[in-house]
Amino acid sequence: MSVCDVAVIGAGPYGLSAAAHLRTIRGLDVHVFGDPMSFWSGNMPVGMFLRSNWTATQIACPNGDLTLEAFQADRQQSFGLPVPIEQFIQYGLWYQCRAVPDLDRRYIARVEHSANGFKLTTQDGETFNSRRVVVAGGIGSFARRPIEFRELPPELATHTSEHADFADFLGKEVLVVGSGQSGLESAALLHEAGAQVQVIGRSRQIHWLQGWASTTLHHRLGKGVRRLLYAPTDVGPAGLSQLLARPHLVRRLPRSLQDKLRKRAVRPAGARWLVDRLRDVPIALGCEVVSAVAAGDRIRVTLTDGRKLTVDHILLGTGFKIDISKYDFVAPSLMERISRVNGFPLLNDGMETSVPGLHILGAPGVYSFGPLLQFVSGTHFASRSLLRSVLSERKSA
Ligand SMILES: Cc1cc2nc3c(=O)[nH]c(=O)nc-3n(C[C@H](O)[C@H](O)[C@H](O)COP(=O)(O)OP(=O)(O)OC[C@H]3O[C@@H](n4cnc5c(N)ncnc54)[C@H](O)[C@@H]3O)c2cc1C
Repeated sequence: MSVCDVAVIGAGPYGLSAAAHLRTIRGLDVHVFGDPMSFWSGNMPVGMFLRSNWTATQIACPNGDLTLEAFQADRQQSFGLPVPIEQFIQYGLWYQCRAVPDLDRRYIARVEHSANGFKLTTQDGETFNSRRVVVAGGIGSFARRPIEFRELPPELATHTSEHADFADFLGKEVLVVGSGQSGLESAALLHEAGAQVQVIGRSRQIHWLQGWASTTLHHRLGKGVRRLLYAPTDVGPAGLSQLLARPHLVRRLPRSLQDKLRKRAVRPAGARWLVDRLRDVPIALGCEVVSAVAAGDRIRVTLTDGRKLTVDHILLGTGFKIDISKYDFVAPSLMERISRVNGFPLLNDGMETSVPGLHILGAPGVYSFGPLLQFVSGTHFASRSLLRSVLSERKSA
């Protein structure tokens, strides 16, 4: 059995950034597992743009040298805002080559307790012993599939995260359920791929981010005022953005206020570059699916506005519901020992769970630290918190 001090599971922005920070500790043996940036390349559509701004799209690194600017200079590439997903994936892979060149690309099939820490088993059966484990497994396991669609086979209904492109939908009639960013962006891409698309959304209104009115207002505010109102982390509206950029403060607010902040900060909204692209796509708001029944190779759908449709496919832009019990690589006996609320782990200041030595980074940290943790810009806070925790344990050992 191989042995290491820290095993990081997942090689997306959080796992890579955590590893880069931990490797600044001399003598610490850090082993990182996972297919780099695979959620971005396999579960988000080609042609997508990142909604986060330039600063918020930087993956935190300890020396400040693995930036988007350094990537552009190294690759002699030029791109601006909004950042195309293809460029962000390349940036993540470039970051990995520099910070974690010895990445172990295997998937971890099992993590369980062992006598002196944790035992990890890779997909091909090799075992590792690690004193500490950092889970940075992302949201891929948490795709939300509402009950009325669960019986439909994948040929008829899929979640947006099951597609890396929409070329197969040419000429198909598709109903997109959900009017948040991923539903709307998928609808635009489906339309451009030659599908006949319509969108339905539960909310009565689409919140367009930085639409004409707010862009004009931003312009008038001037740089100084904008900086006061908006933190570089780019999470949440004016004013709240500054608070949400300080997770240690958010954590100390009354629970009910934290929950309200979380809802307000990440309410479903569409980016402004989608407005024109969706001009010819019908969107029905305040509308839900009552029933969806397979009829041969199509689906018969009844909507709350009384309409009955028959379509080839339903695409669920219904987001993600965090529930770490869906991390199937964590042994049930270990999962049982993690204190949780509504599927979220309770984390201490070092992003450590109630199981000593077991840390969880990324979106599951939202309950303890607020919505920053579900975005790339949260890597700065998460990696530093983790690093501090590991360093202080080594000092006291
Ligand atoms: C459509 C969409 C658009 C988004 N746009 C933005 C945006 O513009 N800006 C932004 O900041 N955020 C955006 N996000 C949120 C984004 O998902 C997160 O910011 C980011 O991916 C978090 O990084 P992560 O490392 O936690 O997760 P991920 O990037 O998902 O990385 C986790 C990795 O862990 C791997 N893994 C899981 N289990 C194991 C295992 N057992 N063994 C080995 N590896 C494992 C996964 O395969 C995955 O590659 C978007 C999300 C979606 C769905």
